[in-house]
Amino acid sequence: MTGPVVRADDLGKLFSDRAGLFQAQSETGVRAVDGVSLEIAHGETLAVVGESGCGKSTLGRLLLRLIEPSSGKVFLEGEEITGLTRSQMRKFRQRAQMVFQDPYGSLSPRRTVAQIISEPLEVFGLVKNRAQQRDRVAEMLTQVGLPTAVMDRRPRQFSGGQRQRICIARAISVDPSFIVADEPVSALDVSIQAQVINLMQDLQREKQFSFLFIAHDLAVVRHMADRVAVMYLGRIVEMGTKRSIYTAPQHPYTQALLSAAPEAKVSRGNGRIVLQGDVPSPRRVPPGCSFHTRCPIAQDICRKERPPLETKGDGQAVACHFAKPFPIPVG
Ligand code: SF4
Repeated sequence: MTGPVVRADDLGKLFSDRAGLFQAQSETGVRAVDGVSLEIAHGETLAVVGESGCGKSTLGRLLLRLIEPSSGKVFLEGEEITGLTRSQMRKFRQRAQMVFQDPYGSLSPRRTVAQIISEPLEVFGLVKNRAQQRDRVAEMLTQVGLPTAVMDRRPRQFSGGQRQRICIARAISVDPSFIVADEPVSALDVSIQAQVINLMQDLQREKQFSFLFIAHDLAVVRHMADRVAVMYLGRIVEMGTKRSIYTAPQHPYTQALLSAAPEAKVSRGNGRIVLQGDVPSPRRVPPGCSFHTRCPIAQDICRKERPPLETKGDGQAVACHFAKPFPIPVG
């Protein structure tokens, strides 16, 4: 197909506080995602990074319509999925799958591996009989590097890395065009993480699905991503190719995240960039630029005017009044 596989236009999610049974619903609450627009091309991996609570997991769920947006639109393969009824959504569910962070909690302990992997195949009518079902399960197990002999075992008999392979097998079994992976390796031992990452990368190259990869580990993101979106308090503050983000970040928050990474080579003056204070509560997002309370170069205008996400060339977009490339040696 031409055009992006996934597109979000001005997507927002407000988790409202209810004011009371007989009162109108309050407009206050947590604005977890605020005005996010993005596109993901066929076979492309867009990684979303940011600190805990920045809205990246909510964004992933909005793109799959696992939760309803408060505003904005989502398009999958050119068709708007926001606003569709539950039955109209059915055909899109097959085309968009999710791999969760916790391979322990996301697998039913009572079901066998064959039942787990074949569940979406049955739901979408992709297998006609038990023989077909087991053939497909065997094929999926082979693709994720597990022996076919394990299909009648239960999740407790597997390690964390093996369970995540089972989750990946289930997600790819229906041949989706889009997968959201929410911190898929962060619950695994470091020694296992690289194996699972390499597996996902190999599968994506082979099957050419589009990938939203949510992570906080910048080394993992560097390995996986084609493009990177950096989120802060529900908004994208910088987005660009992996090369531009890692070698010439323009937003002070991106520069700070990179400077905190173990292999960092970025600094402002002496040493790494140390941000002041904690991330503000998403219930009380600071006015103007929401990063101004922690930004080392904030000026008066930053406290008053919210900077728009502006394209700066080469596909890089930055939301900062004083955006400036910050060259980092390629290592
Ligand atoms: Fe910092 Fe101002 Fe840029 Fe926000 S707009 S990141 S406060 S310099």
